[in-house]
Amino acid sequence: MKECYKRVDLKTGFICNNNCRFCVQADNKCKGNRSFNELKKDLIESRKRCSGVVLTGGEVTIRKDFFELVKLAKNLGYKTIQIQTNGRMFSSMEFCRKTIKAGATEFSPAIHGYCKEQHDYLTKTEGSFNQTIKGIKNLKSLGAYILTNTVIVKSNYQNCPEIAKLLINLNVDQFQLAFVHPMGNAGKNFDNIVPIMSLVAPYVHKALQIGIDAGKSAMAEAIPYCFMQGYEQCISERIMPATEIRGKKYQNTDSFAKQRKISGKSKFSQCKKCKYDLACEGPWKEYPEKRGDKEFVNIK
Ligand code: SF4
Repeated sequence: MKECYKRVDLKTGFICNNNCRFCVQADNKCKGNRSFNELKKDLIESRKRCSGVVLTGGEVTIRKDFFELVKLAKNLGYKTIQIQTNGRMFSSMEFCRKTIKAGATEFSPAIHGYCKEQHDYLTKTEGSFNQTIKGIKNLKSLGAYILTNTVIVKSNYQNCPEIAKLLINLNVDQFQLAFVHPMGNAGKNFDNIVPIMSLVAPYVHKALQIGIDAGKSAMAEAIPYCFMQGYEQCISERIMPATEIRGKKYQNTDSFAKQRKISGKSKFSQCKKCKYDLACEGPWKEYPEKRGDKEFVNIK
């Protein structure tokens, strides 16, 4: 088989043991999880094109067949097997060991606050911060590669630098700060959840600088170039590998990058005169739909 460097984002369903205030999938939770056989078919098919897989949900680690899924991905020859997770199940060392033994190669836990009050408020799940932190510590102690994701919202953006410090203390390998996608719960509660991008930017820069100074890979997602002056190298979209998505029918796409550009993000008339026009995807389209495009000032 000809090896390639594409990866598949395998969406395993919508069931989750957190209940995040900004969850983009909140409306889909009633649709439940996909069956093992459906996922097996997708894994076999995508392996023809992809050498990496990201297992994601909902929360994939609470599936009864979680270890079987990871083992299947390994047996099919996927070289990187990433677990996208809220990290809570990894508070059990035995669970960590079994996941690594099954074949997982990297972990992407989500951490949304610098302290338990902030994180648990956002996940609406008491104890979730302590479990996720313990999960990260457990996985690190086993030598696992950890790249975290933090969703930037109104109640945490000013603490992005503290979140960066926490993650560095935990010795994660990479962290990403992702501007909230205003869909699902975040769309419904837009004014309470979605911060103003121009207010967010300086805190994100400070957090990224803390990461860079510590020698970490520090990234920001869904924040266009006009808010990332001096930190262009930290824009996640620049380094995302080619990705196909397999989930419920309406989630499928052969190119996540194309899907983002065609239907996910927005550009504006002023972008035509911006030096970043070709490289920049713009913000998630729901943001300017609600707030307008005046914040997005082209760079000459
Ligand atoms: S003005 Fe438009 S093209 Fe330029 S960085 Fe901002 S969103 Fe991107």
